[in-house]
Amino acid sequence: MIAKSLITVAIIGGGPGGLATAIALSKLPFVHVRLYEQNPEPREAGAGISLSTNAWKILDLLQASDGVKGGSKANTHQRNGYTGKILNVQEQPENSGADARGSIRARRTRLQSALLARVPAEIIEYGKRVVSLDNLEEGGVRVKFKDETEVVVDLVVGADGIRSIVRRILFPDHQLHFTGNTAWRVLVPKSSLAHIPDITQTTAWWWGETGHAYVSDVDDETETADPHFEITIRSYHEPEIAGTTVPWGIPASNDKVASRVLKFDQRVRDAVGVVPEGQWREFAGYAGPRLEHITGWDKVVLIGDASHPLQGAFGSGATFAMEDGWILARALERTRSSASPLPRALKIFDEIRSPYYMRMYAHLDEGREKMQKQRKSESHTLDELLKARIDNLLGGNKDFIYKNDIQKVWNDYIATLPDEDDVTDSN
Ligand SMILES: Cc1cc2nc3c(=O)[nH]c(=O)nc-3n(C[C@H](O)[C@H](O)[C@H](O)COP(=O)(O)OP(=O)(O)OC[C@H]3O[C@@H](n4cnc5c(N)ncnc54)[C@H](O)[C@@H]3O)c2cc1C
Repeated sequence: MIAKSLITVAIIGGGPGGLATAIALSKLPFVHVRLYEQNPEPREAGAGISLSTNAWKILDLLQASDGVKGGSKANTHQRNGYTGKILNVQEQPENSGADARGSIRARRTRLQSALLARVPAEIIEYGKRVVSLDNLEEGGVRVKFKDETEVVVDLVVGADGIRSIVRRILFPDHQLHFTGNTAWRVLVPKSSLAHIPDITQTTAWWWGETGHAYVSDVDDETETADPHFEITIRSYHEPEIAGTTVPWGIPASNDKVASRVLKFDQRVRDAVGVVPEGQWREFAGYAGPRLEHITGWDKVVLIGDASHPLQGAFGSGATFAMEDGWILARALERTRSSASPLPRALKIFDEIRSPYYMRMYAHLDEGREKMQKQRKSESHTLDELLKARIDNLLGGNKDFIYKNDIQKVWNDYIATLPDEDDVTDSN
């Protein structure tokens, strides 16, 4: 029996966003929260994940940073993928001024385990695939599951990823499309690559005309005698194959991946060649229109990949998702005594997070415009094209992303509000 004074919340999806939201909300005594994940057990596909200062800030707030360890290298090389020529060296000091832990690449499972360890086990239900939501006139939302059970809650958090059903219900006209951009990812023992020159010495991007290879450590070598290494191959113009193009983690054959690097430097082809059959996982990129607002019905909120079509553009999507969850908790806490706490909390959430995503879109658009100009100019060599791509990746000030201090964002936001009483009692 749930006390009437409690706000009941259903989080849909147990990725980084859903788990972080569950941690943040489970600390609020006036919230009764449940997380519903469609998979029958915790599952994390993919290989590595990049974590920078912004990630440490939010992981610290969630008290989930302890178990998160990974690999980092002093330098990142940008290379011509066909010749191996080094086009740029990015120096990464081991300890950045902003956070002594610096930027690391960790196994995705490390992040997932660290978050899972902080979520009270009894609030997660696996094997619960949401199939519909009803906006109830008398208040609340009815959440229906594939197993024909249902719950009625005050607030639904759509943390169900890029192909979010919550978003589809909230914004029925919002259509996703396959971008043609596909990644194949794998982790292999670093020792299996040791015979190939220059592959494991640095984090590196090997750029080609229609795709690239990315290689990186993912383990802290002081922790394990058998560190693993990530290889990601990306192709920018894949055809969509009805029924088999799906966004997340289906197996891909060695032949398929090898065929995407046929023209690449021998070292890249050799690295791809060491991967045992059956290990590659394929990730197809989807995108859709940008949402101006990421809440609806005054009782549904989208977080993480469900809320934006960034498609891994900044390699920080897991952090954005976790930040979303924490801000939602702060907004609910702030407005708990308000006459209409949920609409007010969702408004605050939207006012903080939507402009942040808009800023990222603007940054992406700027980069895209530059690339288009470069493509149109007739007199470019391949090296110039690749250099433009690298400038696009590294250029512009992205401190607002990688150094984002979400606690400060919250403090700055509430400092702009005229009077605390106005916040808690008005709408
Ligand atoms: C190739 C690639 C590389 C990337 N690299 C990085 C990186 O280096 N760093 C980084 O931070 N990010 C990276 N990202 C992005 C990152 O993976 C996502 O931004 C992040 O996983 C988003 O978290 P989320 O919780 O919003 O969604 P997801 O991780 O997608 O989780 C959604 C969850 O919802 C569940 N679900 C879906 N539908 C339903 C339903 N109907 N009912 C119940 N449950 C449901 C799913 O099973 C899943 O568990 C990368 C992405 C890709 C594709």
